Amino acid sequence: MAAISAAQIVKEALGEIKARQLMLTPENYAEVYNEISTRYGFTTEEKRKIERYISRLSGEFRTQANSVNINSVDEFVAFLIARLNRSSQNNTTIDDDKNFKSLNAFTRRILQAIAMLHNKDAKNLAESSVLLLNKKFEIAKFDEMRERWFDLISDYNDEYLEFLKYYGVRNFDDLKTMMSELDKFLTIQSEKSPFSQVSELVINMLKPSISGQIDTEIDELGKKIKLNPVGLATADMQDEIKRMVAKRIEADRDEIMQKVSTLNDALASIDSKIADIATASLENSQKAHDIKSDIKEIKFDAVSLEQIKGMLLNIATALEMQGRDFVSEMDHKQATISDLQQRVGMLEKELKAAKAESNEDFLTKTATKRALMAELGKIEEAYKRYGIDYSLCFLDIDHFKKINDTYGHDAGDAILSTVSAIFRKYSRSLDFVGRYGGEEFVIILPGINLDNAVKFSDKIRQIVQNFKFIYKDERINVTISVGVATRSLGESETNTLESADKMLYAAKNNGRNQVMPQII
Ligand code: GH3
Ligand code: MG
Ligand code: MG
Repeated sequence: MAAISAAQIVKEALGEIKARQLMLTPENYAEVYNEISTRYGFTTEEKRKIERYISRLSGEFRTQANSVNINSVDEFVAFLIARLNRSSQNNTTIDDDKNFKSLNAFTRRILQAIAMLHNKDAKNLAESSVLLLNKKFEIAKFDEMRERWFDLISDYNDEYLEFLKYYGVRNFDDLKTMMSELDKFLTIQSEKSPFSQVSELVINMLKPSISGQIDTEIDELGKKIKLNPVGLATADMQDEIKRMVAKRIEADRDEIMQKVSTLNDALASIDSKIADIATASLENSQKAHDIKSDIKEIKFDAVSLEQIKGMLLNIATALEMQGRDFVSEMDHKQATISDLQQRVGMLEKELKAAKAESNEDFLTKTATKRALMAELGKIEEAYKRYGIDYSLCFLDIDHFKKINDTYGHDAGDAILSTVSAIFRKYSRSLDFVGRYGGEEFVIILPGINLDNAVKFSDKIRQIVQNFKFIYKDERINVTISVGVATRSLGESETNTLESADKMLYAAKNNGRNQVMPQII
């Protein structure tokens, strides 16, 4: 059988029709075509199919299919497979490569932009992604990187932006607005000259000293700074302050060392007295028992002292267990012990007093009760002398015990510190914030009448209520109650404080989270 293409059959069929002088009708064409293709070994059905298939191919493919001999549907399929394989090896690869390069560059651009944003994790991830794009393509590495991006986005928490609200920023999207709002806020905060503010800070930092020996010297330096706050910028003044701080640290350390060593002597003396008694000839174990309860009477605050107390108790217990009796000079020894006990008590008082010297509460950075009462005394002076009225706000956190019980004491401490920071931030520089005790605070508002004091208190109450307290990813709702009283409506500073406290009590009874003004 001669090899022939479908196109040749068509050509021959057309020639035959012409030679036989037949009309070129579909019927005549089909007949002649069949005849010729049968002659060449084609079955009519298959031939038609192939012809139809070829006619459906597009331009170049059709030309190629017509130029080769395709005698069966199988050959047609083989032709197509060969063509397709060749195309996929040439054109498509080039296109893919181009696409990949363009996508790679595009991705790189995005990653560079991300690396410039102020998020450390995103920056790191973007940088390692760029490195990955520079390397040979490995699908596993890309999959892993994609997972890491997914994790970053899933864990990303933008809730902190909410806090900006408390700085007067309403529109979070507009960073420029935010910056200018912050700028405004900071300008309002610093009405006083920066030097006089810093000078106050420096003076407060210097005193009081535990030792008390150099208090006069510190006061002198304080006066000097106050007289010429701008002098703080000079190297001389800064040196002088540095020297004073070093001196103060030295003096305080000596003082404490001396107290501790006196205490140690006292304890060593007790120890040796007990050892004396133990080795002497003995009367009865009841005496040992007495000593034990005497030692128990000694009250120590500090943990290390507690340990010493435990040690002494152990000695006494050992003595008791040995069942030794004590000598008749017990009375005399006991007198010595109670003498030592007294000395320890005195030292303890002195240490306590040294602690109380501090004017600022460590946790809340507000004034201690001692400093608060001293300030109240001064404000009362101004009232009596010059008639400057003032109001007192008594503030107390609602159900604080429950917060401690639910979230733990550390969470309670964190809330105390944040709430007091709010009090400090929203008070004027003339106002005075003090921690009265536990979760109770007093704010003195000089020159403020009852109406305005209530407005101020209610503003603070609302700020606390709306503040998002987050502790270890948990949102804690905090509210406060406030009692307000004004001096001119009462009789004395203590009476005004009592009135504010009474109104606080009324606010609590009325359902909490509210401000209750003095009843006129
Ligand atoms: P109320 O609304 O009536 O004021 O209820 P409250 O639970 O706030 O009041 P209460 O006086 O019964 O409890 C005050 C709690 O404050 C009890 C105490 O353990 C806690 N507290 C006091 N000082 C501190 C502190 O420095 N840190 C912590 N975490 N808790 C404190
Ligand atoms: Mg409370
Ligand atoms: Mg309370």
